Amino acid sequence: MAPAPAISLTRGDRLGYFMRGMIAGIDLGGTQVRVALARSDGQIVSLARTRTALLGSPERLVEWVVDQIRRRDTGEPLRGAAIGAPGPIDKKNGVLVNPPNLPGWSEVPLAAMLSEPLGCPVFVENDANVAAVGEFHRGAGRGFRTMVYITWSTGVGGGVILDGQLFSGAHGTAGEIGHMVLDPNGPLDSCGQHGCLEAFCGGGSLSRQTGESTAELFQAAAAGDREAAEIVGRAATYMGHALVSLSNLIDPEVIVIGGGISRSWKQVAPVFMSVLRGSPFIKPARRPRVRRGQLGDRAGQVGAVEWARTHP
Ligand SMILES: [Zn+2]
Repeated sequence: MAPAPAISLTRGDRLGYFMRGMIAGIDLGGTQVRVALARSDGQIVSLARTRTALLGSPERLVEWVVDQIRRRDTGEPLRGAAIGAPGPIDKKNGVLVNPPNLPGWSEVPLAAMLSEPLGCPVFVENDANVAAVGEFHRGAGRGFRTMVYITWSTGVGGGVILDGQLFSGAHGTAGEIGHMVLDPNGPLDSCGQHGCLEAFCGGGSLSRQTGESTAELFQAAAAGDREAAEIVGRAATYMGHALVSLSNLIDPEVIVIGGGISRSWKQVAPVFMSVLRGSPFIKPARRPRVRRGQLGDRAGQVGAVEWARTHP
């Protein structure tokens, strides 16, 4: 298992400065569940993961999480926990509503199910928002106050940090960057809209167009396959237009891009950066930095720890 991230106190510490005790961060994905146990300053002391399909039900998930935390008992009380989970989520009540990539997990009161056995408050937050919080405090967003995070993977998600705080919006659904409509005559997305960013760039959409996995498509493009290179180039161009729109709307200091497709940075970054640099409206003086996420597939766990620590 990979080593835990380096230790340091971060901004926005609510629990960390004043209390001893432990914090748990849980990343619930369609494929894997990951748990991180951390000290109240955010230093991660242990990591565990398993396959979501092996657990199968919310009850088994709760048992597994509680077991992972108990077997790493440090003698200090658990002060708080947060879970990053696929939306839609009723954040106020900590309920998974009907996540499309966790079929059958409808109306699951995850916060209540976990807070009783863990004996601490449990916050449930959208997975992309949690990853944004992770990159902001512990990854590529360190040192900035205003950041847009994009997770570019099978789907396209995002999170917006304004002046050091995660921005949730009026109904708790802000940051759905993947569903900004770029072309109403574009392809249909699973969200029901035509031509949203995810329909043009999401790995799932690219796989449906080509009949190949995203990894195969990017490999073929890198190996010189012209058609594959064109498809990758088109996706990266649309991402560039999204960066222009986000820069116009938010004027962030930094845009951080994580998720599986960010691993193909050398293939996509020159394309989206040229679109961003080519914008006649976004002059160099107000162009955001664009950085690749630093936390990789640990962004969810690390972010959940940070969300439990800094939750307003
Ligand atoms: Zn969409």
